[in-house]
Amino acid sequence: MKKGPLAANLKLSLPPPDEVFLSKFLTESGTFKDGDLLVNRNGVRLVSQSEVEAAALIQPSDNQLSLADFDAIQVIGKGNGGIVRLVQHKWTGQFFALKVIQMNIEESARKHIARELKINQSSQCPYIVVCYQSFYDNGAISIILEYMDGGSLADFLNKVHMIPEPYLAAICKQVLKGLWYLHHEKHIIHRDLKPSNLLINHRGEVKITDFGVSAILASTSGLANTFVGTYNYMSPERILGGNYGYRSDIWSLGLVLLECATGEFPFSSPQPEGWANVYELMETIVDQPAPHAPSDLYSPEFCAFISACVQKDPKDRLSANELMAHPFITKFENLEIDLALYFTSAGPPLATL
Ligand code: ATP
Ligand code: MG
Repeated sequence: MKKGPLAANLKLSLPPPDEVFLSKFLTESGTFKDGDLLVNRNGVRLVSQSEVEAAALIQPSDNQLSLADFDAIQVIGKGNGGIVRLVQHKWTGQFFALKVIQMNIEESARKHIARELKINQSSQCPYIVVCYQSFYDNGAISIILEYMDGGSLADFLNKVHMIPEPYLAAICKQVLKGLWYLHHEKHIIHRDLKPSNLLINHRGEVKITDFGVSAILASTSGLANTFVGTYNYMSPERILGGNYGYRSDIWSLGLVLLECATGEFPFSSPQPEGWANVYELMETIVDQPAPHAPSDLYSPEFCAFISACVQKDPKDRLSANELMAHPFITKFENLEIDLALYFTSAGPPLATL
């Protein structure tokens, strides 16, 4: 067994270094726990039995995780930036998603990323995916995230093809709460709102992930050639390279909802084989009129909601807060919309704890 740093520094009189004995109590991150006794790099602590139980689950503030404490279960997703794995904490059995982004970058960029991820870690909102810890090791950034067992809205949409309005309103309400938190509490623009960055779970929860990460990756020198984000959901003012603000995320939200309702990305290419290149798509977003929901297929409230989001001029778009009171969101409030059942009926989760 590879000993953690604490094993080497322990001043306690532990029994002889019996490998079998130690492996029962000592994690590779260097936390030793036996009944009421808890020893880690912060020192020795006696904890009551109830505290032992309460401490059993890892909290975002623990800051004590080490990559060696996790068993990899399987790959659950791949993005442009890296790979996402389902992992299990050896000690608590808790599942997490481990996202690894390969990047060989200089020290200053690394520090910048570490700072941004710290902001991410300090988010305390039930509508934002928790970031537990991040590490830089061997040319890769590893981020331990809350595991969302339903995957992303993109994965879900692949299975169900279209989402009916009442469910969409319930999903949208949670996304708006997350956006409100990012915009009004954190003063952050997400910049990359899209179906694959909205994650769902068997409890019917919908959470926003990856805010800021893509922006950092895109702006990090040395990565400009390797990072290929999607421009699909990008607002016209961002494509034009001018100033943009929170309402840029509202444009993206409108496109995501329209895609979920119709099953198709709202900007269709003039030729049947699809977009010739990314510039053609960007030109269409900037030059063509904003897409809308067809009024013969969707409720007036939904059509009005989409047009309150997808306006070419950001000043004409409503804020997250204003949208929360929109008739499309309030209309289904008296119905018992069971998103938990809706999400799980599309297929059982990979692992649940
Ligand atoms: P891009 O790299 O362009 O942002 P992306 O968002 O699809 O694309 P990732 O953020 O790497 O790329 O995510 C890839 C996939 O991994 C997601 O679509 C989702 O299925 C899965 N995934 C990501 N994070 C989690 C998580 N916390 N819990 C469960 N599944 C996740
Ligand atoms: Mg993502």
